[in-house]
Amino acid sequence: MSARRLDGTAVAAAIRSELAADVAELTRRLGRPPSLSIVLVGDDPASKVYVRNKEKAGAEAGLAVTVHRLPATAALDDVLSLVRALNVDDRCDGILVQSPLPPAMGKQASEQVFDAIAPAKDVDGFHAENVGRLVQGRPLLPPCTPTGVIALLEREGVRIAGTHAVVIGRSDIVGKPMAMMLLQRDATVTICHSKTKDLAAVVRTGDIVVSAIGRPGYVTPEMIKPGAVVVDVGTTPVEDRGIVVRLFGPESPRVASFDRRGSTVVGDVHPAVAEVASALSPVPGGVGPLTITMLLRNTLEAARARLAPAGR
Ligand code: NAP
Repeated sequence: MSARRLDGTAVAAAIRSELAADVAELTRRLGRPPSLSIVLVGDDPASKVYVRNKEKAGAEAGLAVTVHRLPATAALDDVLSLVRALNVDDRCDGILVQSPLPPAMGKQASEQVFDAIAPAKDVDGFHAENVGRLVQGRPLLPPCTPTGVIALLEREGVRIAGTHAVVIGRSDIVGKPMAMMLLQRDATVTICHSKTKDLAAVVRTGDIVVSAIGRPGYVTPEMIKPGAVVVDVGTTPVEDRGIVVRLFGPESPRVASFDRRGSTVVGDVHPAVAEVASALSPVPGGVGPLTITMLLRNTLEAARARLAPAGR
């Protein structure tokens, strides 16, 4: 069997073209484009790339995107002050603070910053109030990555209700909300993590498997029930050619691409899983484009709610 490709790039393009009408309508009603403020602290190379991609996608969609850059030496209070200023800025509809924050800010810094963002502008959906609303099944601004996975599954015609879904990873931003969203769509859900006993046997019971751990090629064909649908959220930058050769084979186009660029981004799911699964999302070109699209959608939702707050 060769798995059907769950084409995140195509699904994201379709949703973005649907959003164009909302952008035009909101721009007319607001008298300005809907706006997204991104806060980037420090010089983390991956964060810079993520922010650049979000900025580009926002601009292409017709949003006004402003990136507020703070140095790695900034204090937590500097970030909190900036967030509070954006909260009361009438021209700012959505706020996103790129994580991770510099380690020097302390372990709880991200939580403190996320909770400082006005929930109605929290387009990442990480504020405790938005997490609570999601758990209760009345999300205001749901987190972008799991919402993107649901959009991918639904648009690709994958049935969720009545299935057994296994989520690997239990982070606050992916694994936990992912499990909750699948549960709310009537899947029976199991969450696996680093302390799960005989993880392979558990994963093998999944009709839908969503992996979000950040371990290249960790999910192997032996872990997958034949015909299961597999969604690969993991994205790990790899600079070791040996890993790429081991995963994709020495003659693969992926190795040739690695040789040109010196690095590549690899998912959690071993490519050979395509021989067992009925459908598989690629990395890149799977969940990533949907995550950014859901950020755009949340920004539009936040802008719309500010025009008509009473309706929510
Ligand atoms: P995270 O906060 O580091 O969490 C990783 C989770 O994986 C943890 O729950 C951890 O378990 C679990 N885990 C790690 N190694 C494991 C193992 N060997 N077996 C079982 N579970 C294991 O990561 P995250 O922020 O959720 O991100 C996960 C991956 O998704 C990363 O590769 C990230 O880059 C990617 N991602 C992609 C997108 C996208 O748009 N495509 C968006 C967000 C994240 P414990 O809790 O027990 O430690």
